[in-house]
Amino acid sequence: MTKTECFGILFDDGDPDEITAKALSLIGSDRGVYAVTPNPEIVLAARKDPELRDALRSADLILPDGVGLVWASKILGRPLYHRLPGIDFAYGLLKELAERGGSVFLLGASPGVAQLAGEKLQRAYPGLRIAGTQHGYFASRDEAALPEEIRQSGAELLFVCLGSPKQELWMKQYSAELPGVLMIGLGGALDVFSGRLRRAPQHWRKIGLEWLYRLLQEPKRFKRMIRLPEILWAAMTEKGRK
Ligand code: UDP
Repeated sequence: MTKTECFGILFDDGDPDEITAKALSLIGSDRGVYAVTPNPEIVLAARKDPELRDALRSADLILPDGVGLVWASKILGRPLYHRLPGIDFAYGLLKELAERGGSVFLLGASPGVAQLAGEKLQRAYPGLRIAGTQHGYFASRDEAALPEEIRQSGAELLFVCLGSPKQELWMKQYSAELPGVLMIGLGGALDVFSGRLRRAPQHWRKIGLEWLYRLLQEPKRFKRMIRLPEILWAAMTEKGRK
């Protein structure tokens, strides 16, 4: 596994097996550890938002999600060889965890979604224990109690699906309170696990069109996605300056 710098962020570039093994080895550390899976939109946002940038840089694993980053890294002359969508990373970890009877806590999405996702994952991975679920629209007065609830649940893995930058900031803020736990920021993954949103078929993913499939399901994302060429433009500008 190598480290490759892209827009000031040091990505972990490795094949899925290496990444999964590394992630599993982090469970049980004496502090909470966390993985981030920034897509081009998050990387662009981090260029303007120092708090988000710091939360990304402090992560224990930084995985490139999105074909736009692979293209941008080639333009920059420091290519990323692997792309690991957060959701594939999650499936890999769940499979391994289920084999040893491990447990996961699901945090985020609209009320009811995390619970439904838990039921579906439990069926798909019979050895897995769903340690608990909590929707992502908690009042700020309840937020402080959450780490304690997660700790008490005995979860080894925590999916933090609050959208960006909320999820990255949340993981950085609470990592010290969650020793032993591996957290992963996974955006809209619970909507997919629950079946509320469908994932792109394999052949769409292979040719790098997962974003288009998602756009067709959620047209309200258009405004966000139109910004994607921006990362390629940013890479060209940076390359031109050097
Ligand atoms: N979300 C949440 N709490 C919030 C804001 C968002 O739980 O305060 C959830 C939202 O319901 C959705 C996910 O976070 O399930 C964000 O999904 P989005 O599509 O924005 O993330 P992406 O996959 O693009 O990173």
